[in-house]
Amino acid sequence: MTTKASVAIYWASSCGGCEISVANLHEHLLEFDAHFQLVFCPCLVDAKVDDIRAMPDESILVTLFNGAIRTDENVEMAHLLRRKSKVLVAYGACASSGSIPALSNLHRREDHFNAIYCDNPSIDNPGGTVPVTRTQMPEGELKLPRFHERVKTLAQTVDVDYFVPGCPPESHQLWSILELLICGAALPPKGSILGAGRKSVCDECERERKDKKVERIRRPYEFAPDPKACLLEQGLICMGVATRDGCGALCPQANMPCNGCYGPPEGVLDQGAKMVGTLGSIIDIEPLKGLSEEAIRAHVDAILDGMPDYAGTFYKFTLAASLLEGARPKAGPEVSG
Ligand code: SF4
Ligand code: SF4
Repeated sequence: MTTKASVAIYWASSCGGCEISVANLHEHLLEFDAHFQLVFCPCLVDAKVDDIRAMPDESILVTLFNGAIRTDENVEMAHLLRRKSKVLVAYGACASSGSIPALSNLHRREDHFNAIYCDNPSIDNPGGTVPVTRTQMPEGELKLPRFHERVKTLAQTVDVDYFVPGCPPESHQLWSILELLICGAALPPKGSILGAGRKSVCDECERERKDKKVERIRRPYEFAPDPKACLLEQGLICMGVATRDGCGALCPQANMPCNGCYGPPEGVLDQGAKMVGTLGSIIDIEPLKGLSEEAIRAHVDAILDGMPDYAGTFYKFTLAASLLEGARPKAGPEVSG
């Protein structure tokens, strides 16, 4: 009989990248194995949901829950793992703040089903068949989890102890948490963001900043940026100023702008709003002086042409947890189907 502490890793609406961050523990995996029993992890361990249901409540020391909440199955697993775990961690950007799955909150479920199953050049579906939760077959009833109108974060669904940002989190972040558990050290206050800093990516970025104004917004494919100068000052939308530090400014190091995957820094409520404010202060308005209102509007539109997707740029990782949550009014009661 094992005396190791039980750990679970679960994926809800996510891509699998968070599991890769576990694999990236590399040699720490041996220490992980020495101290923990992985009791549930659908992509690594052949344990069934019924095995987890049969476990006593709070018998799992920690569950790393990645992925956003999109379906009934996601909700059910969030409640089950909350009940069975002493510590529940929202692991990665999807569980913490909705991330890319939550960009779908800008559209209705009906629109998604239409785009995916019907109005799509690669689909041949003359009857317009879309998934339903129950289908009667001669052999019995087939069930699918209900697809919700809106994507939620884990904390909008169940009580969460800690948050680990990142898409995916860096494996050193994960190790810092596991080390705390191995040492039996006191855990940080509930609700803490683990494995990341409090400032912004700009604070850990080594690129030179000169308070230069931006004449137009450019996209990464348009030019090879100066590898030493601030990318934002070169016209690329680098979200570093509105993003929590902790990754070591990985993307700017690779000559790519930060996309914002660590969410907002401490004290910033809404990452997108912070970035919009920053852009307002760095865009060069000198050429606008003396122009008519119409000419100013045309000039600003021309600047913004370099940014075709505002929501996907400013809220790529945080829409579900943002002040907006989504652009359309809150959905009414969920309907089945
Ligand atoms: S905006 Fe981007 S490139 Fe500029 S300092 Fe911040 S993180 Fe670095
Ligand atoms: S630089 Fe930005 S997008 Fe890249 S890993 Fe760090 S926080 Fe994420």
